[in-house]
Amino acid sequence: MIQLRGVSKTVMSGDHALTILHPLDLTIADGQFLAIVGPSGSGKSTLLGLLAGLDAPTTGSILVGGVDITRLSEDGLAKLRGAQIGFVFQFFHLVPSLTALENIMVPMEIAGRRDAMARGRQLLDEVGLAERGHHYPSQLSGGEQQRVAIARALANDPPIILADEPTGNLDSTTGRHILDLLLNVRRERRTTMVLVTHDLELAALADERLVLRDGRPVDARVEVPR
Ligand code: ADP
Ligand code: MG
Repeated sequence: MIQLRGVSKTVMSGDHALTILHPLDLTIADGQFLAIVGPSGSGKSTLLGLLAGLDAPTTGSILVGGVDITRLSEDGLAKLRGAQIGFVFQFFHLVPSLTALENIMVPMEIAGRRDAMARGRQLLDEVGLAERGHHYPSQLSGGEQQRVAIARALANDPPIILADEPTGNLDSTTGRHILDLLLNVRRERRTTMVLVTHDLELAALADERLVLRDGRPVDARVEVPR
């Protein structure tokens, strides 16, 4: 379970403080699929980054499996992230100097798994790229790179998958395939999934929707302009 209590984020913008996420309470049950929607600049990525412990909130607490991640050291946070959270980014964020297989192996090597290569190959197969393990990101299409990124996110079998507009940089057909892959992953592994998306059709498939505007939740029945 993920629990946010009074979580907010204020940043300095020039010489004044700017609150980009207003105090938010949110509970995400194990296995839940939550879609976060809202116009550009509404605080979606900020919230996802806080959930992942990639960024620290200005106020509030974030409990992941009962652990308040805002109280963890950098090291403790990195360990928790490595074991519990798989993150999929809009722009893939693969390491360009590593092959597809090597990219997938990174989180497993950090976790000290001896079966990293065998499992990496299995994950490549699972995302439909069994033959592409030796290719570098620059030799792969956007959709293929995102498949590698999804395999990497699954490497340590995290109970939580966070995805920030994972199809935002792909054409609609490729995006559809990537979404199907994510939905399959979620169904088969019963992971908690938090997905930031502009796609209202996709958001409709989620168990729950959080609509943000100007860093605040708005009534989910209000239609969100794209
Ligand atoms: P979204 O993902 O919904 O498009 P973001 O969470 O990326 O929105 O950003 C919310 C708002 O906060 C935007 O207006 C953005 O420009 C601003 N913002 C995000 N991070 C910072 C920062 N570090 N400093 C100043 N402004 C920021
Ligand atoms: Mg964003």
